[in-house]
Amino acid sequence: MHTLSPPLARLRERAAEIANTVLAADADEVDREGRWPARGMRALAEAGLMGLHIPEHLGGDGQGLLALAVVTEELGRCCSSTGMCFGMHSVAAKVIAAKATPYHEERFLRPIAAGRHITSLSLSEPGTGVHFFLPRAKFTRDGEEVVLEGQKSFVTSGGHADSYVISAVPPGSELDPGTFTCFAVEAGAPGLEWLQDWHGFGMRGNSSRGLRLDRARIPHANLLGSEGDQIWYVFEVVAPYFIIAMSAVYLGIAQAALDLTVAHLKERSHAHTGETLSGVPVLSHQVAEMWTAIQRTRQLVHHAARLCDAGAPDASLSLFAAKADVADMVGTVTQQAMMLSGGRGYGQNSAVARLLRDGQAAHVMAPSTQLLKTWLGRSVLDLPLL
Ligand SMILES: Cc1cc2nc3c(=O)[nH]c(=O)nc-3n(C[C@H](O)[C@H](O)[C@H](O)COP(=O)(O)OP(=O)(O)OC[C@H]3O[C@@H](n4cnc5c(N)ncnc54)[C@H](O)[C@@H]3O)c2cc1C
Repeated sequence: MHTLSPPLARLRERAAEIANTVLAADADEVDREGRWPARGMRALAEAGLMGLHIPEHLGGDGQGLLALAVVTEELGRCCSSTGMCFGMHSVAAKVIAAKATPYHEERFLRPIAAGRHITSLSLSEPGTGVHFFLPRAKFTRDGEEVVLEGQKSFVTSGGHADSYVISAVPPGSELDPGTFTCFAVEAGAPGLEWLQDWHGFGMRGNSSRGLRLDRARIPHANLLGSEGDQIWYVFEVVAPYFIIAMSAVYLGIAQAALDLTVAHLKERSHAHTGETLSGVPVLSHQVAEMWTAIQRTRQLVHHAARLCDAGAPDASLSLFAAKADVADMVGTVTQQAMMLSGGRGYGQNSAVARLLRDGQAAHVMAPSTQLLKTWLGRSVLDLPLL
C-alpha cells in the first residue's frame, strides 16, 4: 500500500480533526432537519481546506485528485452531506482554476483559497437528466455580457454558495456535446431564481435545488476557457474531479458503517452467554468481508486518482470502474452494517439508517452506475465513448 506524502498526510489530519468534531456533532441534525451544513462548511473554510486545488501562488494547496480522495473521505465518514457540499465546491473550484484568467484568479480563486468564497456545480438539467454533459440551457452574447436562459436541477449548496459553475450551449446546438460551455455565475447575478427545496431520501443536508435562469446576466469575462474547446472540461476536469469526490464520500460512508458495526459488536452482549457479539465467528467473517470490500475499493479509487494526477493515457478506465465499484460496495456494506446492528441499527433515525440512505445516492448521481459501465465497456471494446 502507498503511504501518503507528508503534505497530504497533514491535509488528511486537518480534515479528520474537523470531521471528528464539528461534522460528527452536526450530522444527525443536518440529516433530520434537511439543513445545509453551514457550521461544518465554515469550519472547513477556516481550516484552509477550501483551496485544495487552487494554485499555491494564489494561496491554495495546488493539490490534485489523490488529495481530493483522501480529504473528502474523512468528511464523508462523519457527515455525507458536508462531504458532498465540499466535493462539489472542490470540483467547481477546479473547473474555474483549470484555465483561469487573471480576472478569474482575483475574483474567484484567491477568495476561495482564503476561505471567503464557496462555489458549487450546476450542470444537471431536468431535460437531459443523468447526461450532465448535454446542457440545454442557452447562452447568448450581448456586448460585454452573456445572457443565460434555461433550467438546472439538483444544484448542491443551492442558494448557499457564493457562485455556481453553470453549463450552457449556444442556441441551436443543444445536443452537440462539443459546444458544452461553462460560466462562473455569482450568486447575486440578476435573473437567478431558486426553485423550491428538494427533499431527498438521503444526502438530506446538501440543499440540492432547481435553478431557473431567467435571462440571467453575467459578465462575458466569466466564461471559463474559450467557446468550443469545452468538451475538454467534461472529460479532463469535471468527470475526474466529480468521480473522485463522489467516490470518496461513499468510501467515507462505508468506513463509517464498518466503524459503527465494530463498535456495536464489541459492546453488545447477550444475557444468556455473557459475551459480546464480537466473538461470534459468523459475525467476524462478515466484518472481514466488509473490511476487504472497503479496502479493495479504496485502492481502486486511489489508483485511479494517482493515474489521473500523473496524466496516464488510460486513466479514465480506472476512474469509471472506481465510481461504479464504490456504488456497489457502499450499498452492500451499509446493508451488512444494518444487519449486524440488529434492532439498534434498524431504529428510525439510527446512524446506520442514515448511512444506508445516503449511500443509495451513489448509483443515481451522474455519472450514474449504468452510464459508467457503458463508458467502461465501450472503452474496453475500443468504441467511442459517446
Ligand atoms: C443528492 C444529489 C445531489 C446532486 N448534486 C448535483 C450537483 O451539485 N450538480 C449537478 O449538476 N447535479 C447534481 N445532481 C444530479 C445528478 O448528478 C443526476 O443528474 C441526477 O441524479 C439524475 O437524476 P434524473 O432523475 O434526471 O435521472 P434520469 O436521467 O431520469 O435517469 C434515471 C436512471 O436511468 C439511467 N439512465 C438514463 N439514461 C441512460 C442511458 N442512456 N444509459 C444507461 N442508463 C441510463 C440512469 O443511470 C438512472 O439510473 C445531484 C443528484 C443528487 C441525487
